Amino acid sequence: MASPPPVPATPAPASQRKQGPGDSIGLYVVQCYGCHKWRAVPTKDEFETIRENLTNDPWFCNKRPDCSCEDPADIEYDSSRIWVIDRPNIPKPPPKTERLAIIRRDLTGVDICYVLPNGKRAKSVGDVQKFLDANPEYKDSLSVENFSFTLPKVAEETVTGGFAWRRNKKAKKQGKINASSTKK
Ligand SMILES: [Zn+2]
Repeated sequence: MASPPPVPATPAPASQRKQGPGDSIGLYVVQCYGCHKWRAVPTKDEFETIRENLTNDPWFCNKRPDCSCEDPADIEYDSSRIWVIDRPNIPKPPPKTERLAIIRRDLTGVDICYVLPNGKRAKSVGDVQKFLDANPEYKDSLSVENFSFTLPKVAEETVTGGFAWRRNKKAKKQGKINASSTKK
């Protein structure tokens, strides 16, 4: 069976996870298509550039100066931090906007919102449309197609000590008596 295509992942150390509404991501990494090792991406901007074209322009270690597939991984995929698995091919946020990934408090998922040029937050395409209707001067630089509310995924196996998470899973299980319980 073919393994799923590697996509950039964005692990957030539990200790650095903010409770507030800021971005939850503490570190950006990308997986090499060749050796499958994880490499740190220094900035969010660079990460968003890689992510934007990942399918057409897969990432390899040699894209980074002084790095090859022979080098040890920058970071291992394990439960020392919570990993958020992102989707490929998300357009770069338009100028004067920022895309925030906010891990839910119960760690069951990640919410996406954009900070718009007026400081307000958009949680859906509808919010962006409303903003453009109210601020038509931005219609030249912003369009709804530049926004993607595709949700990344919390890698469940990297969540440790997430009591809320476990409680939630239990509740879900109780609600679904027919669900198979082959859980480790
Ligand atoms: Zn490599």
